[in-house]
Amino acid sequence: MIDPFGRAVTYLRVSVTDRCDFRCVYCMAEDMTFLPKRDLLTLEELERLCGAFIDKGVRKLRITGGEPLVRRNIMSLFKALGRHLETGALDELTVTTNGSQLERFAPALRDAGVRRINVSLDTLDRQKFKAITRWGDLGKVMAGIRAAEQAGLQIKINAVALKGVNDTEIPEMLRFAHDRGMDLTLIETMPLGDIDGDRTDQYLPLSQVRAELAEHFTLEDIDYKTGGPARYVRVAETGGRLGFITPLTHNFCESCNRVRITCTGTLYMCLGQDDAADLRAPLRASEGNELLNRAIDEAITRKPKGHDFVIDRRTQAPAVSRHMSVTGG
Ligand code: SAM
Ligand code: SF4
Repeated sequence: MIDPFGRAVTYLRVSVTDRCDFRCVYCMAEDMTFLPKRDLLTLEELERLCGAFIDKGVRKLRITGGEPLVRRNIMSLFKALGRHLETGALDELTVTTNGSQLERFAPALRDAGVRRINVSLDTLDRQKFKAITRWGDLGKVMAGIRAAEQAGLQIKINAVALKGVNDTEIPEMLRFAHDRGMDLTLIETMPLGDIDGDRTDQYLPLSQVRAELAEHFTLEDIDYKTGGPARYVRVAETGGRLGFITPLTHNFCESCNRVRITCTGTLYMCLGQDDAADLRAPLRASEGNELLNRAIDEAITRKPKGHDFVIDRRTQAPAVSRHMSVTGG
């Protein structure tokens, strides 16, 4: 799959549910309305859809959500997708999770062929954690991280930088991650979906975080790439890697290799644009993949050159109306 700008699409992110056991303030309103279950693709349909993308050249799959590990029987999907690792059709199967269910599932993920996972964790302070996630329990997430380490999974911590919330804690989080051999990636808040509250209050430019960190640590630019939008530095004092994802202040689109599918089978060619293609109808219309393949090919010809995120300071309206939990982070 080559898009009109010559970029090969080799990375698919799949949201398997829009539901979550947390209500992070930058991601969801507390009182969210979720999709009716009948709208969701079944696990078998998700497997078939992923298979079609793998046949078309996708080499890396990331399972996300909502919280992917709260979907019932989700390990059966991981197991089924893991078979593509065994045949060599897929290079990597991975997951982004809030960590709440990892204690239960870490060994099964490893058995399915998962080697690296992203765990979202914005603070190490129990009370702040509660304030950010509204419903989360830091102790459970920490137990999940330990279980993942014991299962031999490599962990990357993703933290959203939040003004006045975790900005003073970032050096401590850096040491926490690097002491355990984990990368840390900082993310700027993105204007996706209505939340309760004001996003411009939360927005903390990573250029500022980086400048403050540089007063205490030696940050060396490195060429490490994961095929994603993060730019990495090596922290000389810890020897670990630190990534910055800056969708609002930098343009990372020129090397974009990814597309996203929602849990209802809608394909988004760009996280920051509304254009999409429905794959559920062609998927359900026949048992063969001909219609589906045609719909995918047509959609890839519409992959846009780049996104256009802006937090509208006048209306506070999000640039993109769907929530991150719908498209997957
Ligand atoms: N529930 C899982 C988790 O939290 O890791 C997977 C889905 S979550 C939507 C994926 C990532 O998106 C998380 O790291 C989360 O912090 C991030 N995220 C959610 N809403 C965001 C926003 N408005 N701006 C930036 N990052 C956001
Ligand atoms: Fe749930 Fe992840 Fe969104 Fe937090 S960021 S509410 S854990 S989907």
